[in-house]
Amino acid sequence: MKPKIHYVNSYRDIPANIPTANDPTMQGLSIPKTGDIYAIKGKTTAGYLQHEIYHVKKNHPTKPRDYRDFISQEINASYFAYRNVKQPKRILMELRAIFNDVTANIYNVTPRQAMIAIHAILNKLDIPNGWSNDYKRLVAEYNRAYARSK
Ligand SMILES: [Zn+2]
Repeated sequence: MKPKIHYVNSYRDIPANIPTANDPTMQGLSIPKTGDIYAIKGKTTAGYLQHEIYHVKKNHPTKPRDYRDFISQEINASYFAYRNVKQPKRILMELRAIFNDVTANIYNVTPRQAMIAIHAILNKLDIPNGWSNDYKRLVAEYNRAYARSK
């Protein structure tokens, strides 16, 4: 799909028939089926925009059957953004969101399965220092929350 980027002044300018369009906290919005991407001036970051462009170009489904494909899509979209515009420099919030999505919100895999898959995907990429530090932080959080006490 070819991305069609619409620059708007406010989230209010996103057509109201689009689900979740009426959200003042949104960073931007993309509709994978049509390729439409709404970028809000002064709010949508270059990194966010590139991330969404990658999803549209690759025709990523909103919910792939395999959670590992979901993780791969999300990390690779941000990696594409990083290579193009050097954003995002940090990825901890995104890694936490991915972890929560695959263990609870969208899929139902174990925390251990989620961590193994995240590691496998990051390991294939030449990630910047900020990202590897954030990955280490995620591992530390995981160990604190799930490791059995010794
Ligand atoms: Zn994404």
